[in-house]
Amino acid sequence: MTPPPHEDRPPLAGSLEWGDPRRAGRRLPDTQQGMRRRNLSRVMHAVREEGPLSRAAVASRIGLTRAAVSTLVDELIRSGLLEELGPERPSRVGRPGSALAVSGSGPCGIGAEVGVDHLAVCAVDLRGEVRARAVRHGTNRGRASGPVLRELTALIRQVAAESEREGLSPAGLAVAVPGLVARDARTVVRAPNLGWHDTDLGPLLPDDLPLTVDNEANFGGLAELWLNEAAPRDFVHVSAEIGIGGAVVVDGRLLRGTRGFAGELGHVPVRPEGPACVCGGRGCLEQYAGEEAVLRAAGLEPVGNRVGLLAERAAQGDKDVRRALRGAGTALGVALTGAVNLLDPQAVVLGGALSDLAPWLLPALERELARRSAGPVCAVSVSRLGPQGPLLGAAHSVVRAVLDDPATVGGAA
Ligand SMILES: [Zn+2]
Repeated sequence: MTPPPHEDRPPLAGSLEWGDPRRAGRRLPDTQQGMRRRNLSRVMHAVREEGPLSRAAVASRIGLTRAAVSTLVDELIRSGLLEELGPERPSRVGRPGSALAVSGSGPCGIGAEVGVDHLAVCAVDLRGEVRARAVRHGTNRGRASGPVLRELTALIRQVAAESEREGLSPAGLAVAVPGLVARDARTVVRAPNLGWHDTDLGPLLPDDLPLTVDNEANFGGLAELWLNEAAPRDFVHVSAEIGIGGAVVVDGRLLRGTRGFAGELGHVPVRPEGPACVCGGRGCLEQYAGEEAVLRAAGLEPVGNRVGLLAERAAQGDKDVRRALRGAGTALGVALTGAVNLLDPQAVVLGGALSDLAPWLLPALERELARRSAGPVCAVSVSRLGPQGPLLGAAHSVVRAVLDDPATVGGAA
């Protein structure tokens, strides 16, 4: 495959980094302002993870004086990021403190997903709750980006308006796409199952919100990392729609690769001389385990709710469907053995549509892993997020950016 012409683009800047977990690890300038912003973030994370908490409890958790914490908390309340729940019941001598909680009416993240067969948008508040959502079913394959993104924009406006009626204010927009995205976090380099290439989505989406575009599999992997408390720190996340997507999480961070294209498990060759693939290669995993490939192998038409159809027929004991799913599981096991032998992750996680088909994929997949792994066999688990992963990951990426640098929302940065 020819390297796309985007590797010389300037590095990410400002809000374009939203959705990139490295943003969380970025060090702010080591000045008083930088220190203040880091401490605002520490207060937000303490309250979100352990709240409701009093100011004194926050102070003891993050190791600052109560006076310093009070100043930070006041700023976060003014910015609408924290709220006071009223006085705590006095349980010991002294003035009762007011319990602090993350605001359910402050900023929210708007997540959007361009699927091959659907568009979806949701709003997630700082507490992590989905507060509004909209979905449109219908194929986007072969449609130009303009009309598709006009429809997506209408859904985004609908969800933003609904979240504003709930007292929320959208702080950013993150869009999941089934394709490779350049490091500018806006340009779809190629999305073969949509037929888009070198498309800057920025001018085609609402310009009043900071925008991040990322591969849907990356958002799916991040959703697993952020929303599954039991998620390991090192895992390979594999998901499917028409294509097969992969995301590699190493030590709690998404592995992006030099150009941002890491994790293209769907285009790992399973049989070097196998059928031609949309990527230009042959015998890629997607040609054996993508939804359409499985339907073809089962002698079914690729129309309607494909995964639902496969799951229903498999549950009924349809021999052709079960054989096709065994074949897909074998191909997944072969490709994943490569990833496991290379990366030594704690687990492989099946997400997206694959989670609904897991009962029929897993036996063959695990058999191949057991036969081929160089070391001990890697555990395989099934994501509970299912097909919602990429959309939730997108919305949560905006929320996490707010928690990691709350000053950007209060206008006090
Ligand atoms: Zn391919």
